[in-house]
Amino acid sequence: MSEELSPVSLLAEAVLLSTRLDEDWSYDPRTGRYRATNGRFLSGKTVEAIVDGRINSLKTKLRTLTASLIDNSVSIEQWQVQTRALLKTAHIQAALVGNGGQQGMDAAAWGRVGWRLREEYRYLEGFAKDLLEQRVSAPMALARISLYGDSVRGSYWTGTTIRQEKQGYTLMRRILDPQAQHCEDCIRYAAAGMVSVGVLPMPGQRCACRARCRCTVKYYRSQMP
Ligand SMILES: [Zn+2]
Repeated sequence: MSEELSPVSLLAEAVLLSTRLDEDWSYDPRTGRYRATNGRFLSGKTVEAIVDGRINSLKTKLRTLTASLIDNSVSIEQWQVQTRALLKTAHIQAALVGNGGQQGMDAAAWGRVGWRLREEYRYLEGFAKDLLEQRVSAPMALARISLYGDSVRGSYWTGTTIRQEKQGYTLMRRILDPQAQHCEDCIRYAAAGMVSVGVLPMPGQRCACRARCRCTVKYYRSQMP
């Protein structure tokens, strides 16, 4: 793959994107909180809603692109190149939100984004092969591409955990989304209650619902009950 996914090139890309990236929020490392453009603090829920909104618009774009592939208005090569570009921007954006902006992104954080993208591109390679060999129906293809959008949430949670650890939060609790259907795994993770960060997987990891997982995480300092 010719595409550059090194920490340095991802950072360069983020700098190019930055005017668009930071329009909804900024992060204050002193308080460990996000602010809106009007200076008001944003709740964790609001930040998650920003991430969700971006994921929803990404999924729409991915589905539109895949529908164009199905009706032959784009080639499989064009589809793959454009899908990769959309995923790259989205994972960078989600990681930036999670890590608390560019100042929270060190080489290791960029390395994780690169690793994640490489993995997504590899899955996409398999998906393209299945499409070429006509092993997937149109509805299946649209459902499958949506999962690539959902999995962007993982980049947000990975960054969030690291940012929270820097702020001294050593405990975590998995929270079920009351609006979602839960898999057995996530019910078990939520039932475990408060544990050390890292004991339970991030939403979307090691659960049957995978990318569809709607769970969230709350972080606590050890002094708190
Ligand atoms: Zn889940």
